[in-house]
Amino acid sequence: MTVGASAPRVGVLALQGDVREHAAMLGALGAEVSLVRTPAQLAAVDALVLPGGESSVIDRLARQFEVREPIIARIQAGMPVLGTCAGLILLADRILDGLPTQLPFGGLDVDVRRNAFGSQVDSFETALEVPALGEEPVRATFIRAPVVERVGAGVEVLAAVDDRVVAVEQGALLGIAFHPEVSGEQRFHRRFLERVRRVSGG
Ligand code: GLN
Repeated sequence: MTVGASAPRVGVLALQGDVREHAAMLGALGAEVSLVRTPAQLAAVDALVLPGGESSVIDRLARQFEVREPIIARIQAGMPVLGTCAGLILLADRILDGLPTQLPFGGLDVDVRRNAFGSQVDSFETALEVPALGEEPVRATFIRAPVVERVGAGVEVLAAVDDRVVAVEQGALLGIAFHPEVSGEQRFHRRFLERVRRVSGG
């Protein structure tokens, strides 16, 4: 793949979580990847990935690093964001079963319940139909995964496990309850980068 002047500049929020897996996948797909911990680093990217990890920890560190408010402002200004698992929780307008002090960044018009699959099925892998990505099912890895319980009017459901919504898209925001970055599934990241190229005109 050619990485030219038009390679989209994509940041991975690098406060906690599986930052490296996202960075590696984005780099392999031709993005110019950087790690984001500060407002200045955020200002230098066209788009942001919120990794999986622990959403309450990422929230707390984002406040400490004073990058929470700038992230919210960029989301409201239309910056494309891909959130996986904890990242989906952070993108939701409302968190159910969050820690008492926990706040999301918001932007996605959904309610998301943390750890919704229960402790007996903490982690599992499944083949998931995602029609928007083509016929071949996605190998999806769920790790203490959330579920989308309310979907706003402008939100498109991309995938569900039984009747539980696990992938959604609203404009430039893509939220996934599982971890395509750990199972080597590139199609969500490709879709995201196409969106970034459209929005940033690259
Ligand atoms: N349960 C975690 C949280 O609440 C998310 C787990 C994950 O990102 N794999 O943030």
